[in-house]
Amino acid sequence: MMRHSGEPVRHWTVMSQPDSPPSPTRPLLDFASPRRGKPPRHFADLSMADRRAAMAGVGLPAYRAKQLSVQYFGRLETDVAEMTDVPAKVRSSLASDLFPDLLHPLRTLAADAGTTIKTLWRLHDGALVESVLMRYPDRATVCISSQAGCGMACPFCATGQQGLTRNLSTAEIVGQVVDAARAMRDGAVPGGPGRVSNVVFMGMGEPLANYKTVVDVLHRIADPAPDGLGMSARGITVSTVGLVPRIDQLAQEGLPVTLAVSLHAPDDELRDELVPINTRWKVGEVLEAAWNYAAVTKRRISIEYAMIKDINDQAWRADMLGRLLAGHLVHVNLIPLNPTPGSKWTASRPEDEREFVRRLQAHGVAVTVRDTRGREIDGACGQLAATGTDG
Ligand code: SF4
Repeated sequence: MMRHSGEPVRHWTVMSQPDSPPSPTRPLLDFASPRRGKPPRHFADLSMADRRAAMAGVGLPAYRAKQLSVQYFGRLETDVAEMTDVPAKVRSSLASDLFPDLLHPLRTLAADAGTTIKTLWRLHDGALVESVLMRYPDRATVCISSQAGCGMACPFCATGQQGLTRNLSTAEIVGQVVDAARAMRDGAVPGGPGRVSNVVFMGMGEPLANYKTVVDVLHRIADPAPDGLGMSARGITVSTVGLVPRIDQLAQEGLPVTLAVSLHAPDDELRDELVPINTRWKVGEVLEAAWNYAAVTKRRISIEYAMIKDINDQAWRADMLGRLLAGHLVHVNLIPLNPTPGSKWTASRPEDEREFVRRLQAHGVAVTVRDTRGREIDGACGQLAATGTDG
C-alpha cells in the first residue's frame, strides 16, 4: 500500500547518489518479466531454530546462532567483518552464505530539515523500492515496502500503474527497518540518538498479498531480542486494500498490530473503480473483517481515505462513510491526494475537505487530515513509482 498518496510537495535534499549506478542499458524496472529469481538467503529470513540449523553449513556450532542474532538484531550490525566475536576464519563464508548484501542504497533524500529521510533501494535483481524514516518530536516512524511494485492496480496510484514486479523477501523488508533503526541509534537524524518506535507497512505493495513473509517480518520486528528487534507490536501498522481472508488470518496471529484499511470510497460503485480488488471483496465484507479484527485484537482500525477532487469527496459520501463507521473502534485518516503527473485525479478543494471532516465528526467518527506541512506519511496507499529519477 504505497502511502505516498498524501505526500505533500517537499523540497528534498540529495544526501547521497549512487556509487555504482546500474547499467544504462538495463531498465530499472522490468515490467515484462515479473517472475524473478528469489533473493539469496539471508540470516534475517530465518527463525531462531533455522538459524541454529544453518550454522553447520558455515562451519559453526549451533550456539553461534544466538551470538549472530545479538549482533544483527541486538546491535544492528549488518557487516560480518565488524562481528569481531565471530572467528575470523569463517567470517568471509558467513558473509557470503548468510549475510549477502540485499539492499543497495541507490539514493538518499532528506526533507523537513533532515527529519524525513527517504531511501531508494536497489535490490539484487535491479528492482527498486523505497523506505522513509520520519522523526517527530515524540516518535520515529519508518514506512517500509513489502513488494516491488503492486498488483492491486488502483488507477490513482503510480505504483499500481507499474504492476507487480515481485514480492520482497523477509530479509529485504527487515533490512529496511534495521537500516532505519541504525540511523536513529547513530544520531543520523537531527535530534540526537534515538529509536524507531513505529513501523508502518505503507510503502510500495499490498502487504497482505505477501502474507506469509509479512507475518515473518512482524515476528522479526516484534520478537524479543535477540530472536528479533524487540519492538512493540503496538507500534506496527499493516495496511491493506481489503484482502478479507488475510485480514481474518492476521486477526488470529496473536500479534496486536494496527490494521489500516485503505477504503477510499464508502460505496461499492465507486470503490470498484478506485480500488479494483473491491470487485472481489465489497465494502461491507471488508469492514466486517475489520470490525472482527478490532474485536479480536482490541486495536483501533485506521481507515485511510485519499481525498480526490469531485470523485470521492462529496458531502453525501461523507455521510455515507459516517453511517458505516459510527459506533466502531475506528479512526479515519483523510489524505489529500498527491496527483501523479498526467493524472486526471487531484486533491480535493479545502472547503470540500472541511465539510467532509465536519460530517464525519457529526457522526461521532474520529478523523484526522494529514498535516499539510507533510510530516505525516504513515497513512495509506500511495503513489510511489520507484524510478531512478524519483524524488
Ligand atoms: S494504492 Fe496501494 S494497493 Fe492500490 S495500487 Fe497503489 S500501492 Fe497498490
